[in-house]
Amino acid sequence: MFYYGIDLGTTYSCIARADENGAVEVIKNIEGKNITPSVVEFISSTEIVVGETAKGDAILAPDNVSLYIKRSMGKKDEFLFHGEKYKPEQISAFILKKLVSDASSLTGEEITDVVISVPAYFGFDEKQATENAGRIAGLNVLAIVNEPTAAAIAYGAKSKAKEDKIVLVYDLGGGTFDITVAEIVGDRVTVISTEGNHTLGGKDWDAELISYFVSQFCEKTGVDEERVYDDTEVLNELVIKTEEAKKELSAKNSTAFSLSLGREQRAKLEVSVDKFDEITRHHLSSTIELTKVAIKQAATKTSSTGKSCDKFDEIILVGGSTRMRQVKEALKKEFGIEPKLFEPDEAVARGAALLAQYLVTNPPAQTAVGGIARKSERFEEVTSKSYGIETIDKQKSVLSHVILKNDKIPLSNTETYYTLESNQWAVELKIYESNIMEPITDLSFGKLIAENELKLPPDLPADSPLDVTFSLDRNGLLSITAVERSRGGSCNITVKTAGLQESEILRLRLATSAIKVTEEA
Ligand code: AMP
Repeated sequence: MFYYGIDLGTTYSCIARADENGAVEVIKNIEGKNITPSVVEFISSTEIVVGETAKGDAILAPDNVSLYIKRSMGKKDEFLFHGEKYKPEQISAFILKKLVSDASSLTGEEITDVVISVPAYFGFDEKQATENAGRIAGLNVLAIVNEPTAAAIAYGAKSKAKEDKIVLVYDLGGGTFDITVAEIVGDRVTVISTEGNHTLGGKDWDAELISYFVSQFCEKTGVDEERVYDDTEVLNELVIKTEEAKKELSAKNSTAFSLSLGREQRAKLEVSVDKFDEITRHHLSSTIELTKVAIKQAATKTSSTGKSCDKFDEIILVGGSTRMRQVKEALKKEFGIEPKLFEPDEAVARGAALLAQYLVTNPPAQTAVGGIARKSERFEEVTSKSYGIETIDKQKSVLSHVILKNDKIPLSNTETYYTLESNQWAVELKIYESNIMEPITDLSFGKLIAENELKLPPDLPADSPLDVTFSLDRNGLLSITAVERSRGGSCNITVKTAGLQESEILRLRLATSAIKVTEEA
């Protein structure tokens, strides 16, 4: 019996399995690689190619290829290929289908139950969209786990540290950055705080290098920059060559390649590691700033063994982009600890597989309000977002948080609010998600994620109490109950994603099962 975990990455994805004893391995794709590019090529409306071949075709047929779909998860974006519209969830489902069908054909196992990872900094909509992608791919999603938590689980399982350790997991992938402070004792992982930016990753380092190469090309050839940017084929070639050059700079002090535009214009493009560092320093600095925020947030908490979390013992690097030399150097300089590169491409999938094994072999002992409780939790998570409700404070609409970022989950919190006027016939409940850790903040910092109305009984005086309970489960799914205290009227809001509705998920699941996802065109 094996348990499967999937790292659904912005640029690369990976699938791993754990056995009953917690031995874990990455499963190669049918091209023999441990990681698969998260690139989808639409050959026709019934045939789709995912992986290395699709990535290669991004140059030849850019209009048929979808790159970086993870950045659209949780948004209402739509993509058109061969006259058909596709949602981000469906395109991600094709990637999942390819990973699972390759793993199935290699292991001979039918794979249905999986844990899928997401950046810790994903909000409610993005997490829900990821779960929906799994369902569209025909999978049963056991849990959605935060990527740095999964990496910490894999690290804990491997290091088997007996003593209490506070670790900083610095996770810089292709399109997202997460920083998490976690306590590891043996194979037990407790997340203390988490921060991040889900639109910052290796792709942004690539973008700086691309504009550097475009200026260099134009200086050398006299061509207008617009001409290069307008030529999709040349631009795609540059994207691929730039990523290769960036990777080379992790091992060499400089690198070069040549680029042509038409028959006449050709130039050798060069870059040194120092130049690369200089033009991308602002991105690295912003990850260091976020790291300091996460450390500051952790410092206000104590570990499960009562240890103060104001210091940490180790820095673990995960995510392919932590191979860039400057990342390690900058962290060492800033925090005085030698960071350890820990299976940067695979740690997350391995941890997700270990979590799948734990969830299936330790079924919930009891169901509690606001989530599932187990006798002894081996993994404890925090929420990466705050949740609250719109209220009036000093005649101004504000966002009053009921759950604060970095609170432990699952949890259930109740706050009491009061009606404004006598004979008020209803209250409008507007639910927001935010990144702010203050109890009350400006409404503009929040994102409206759900709303409902609580009808009030007649003749209710002003200042009548309303109890509003927010329950956040282990997967970051939120439900809200509002109760008018004096006469017991109530309403429930289950926060549903602004994305796909149930009927649409089922329709896409059926449509996706009819589409052939292959490795080669
Ligand atoms: P991940 O999302 O963790 O798979 O990370 C993918 C990102 O890591 C992409 O932006 C890759 O370009 C980047 N990456 C992979 N290998 C290297 C390397 N050797 N040097 C620099 N960046 C790398």
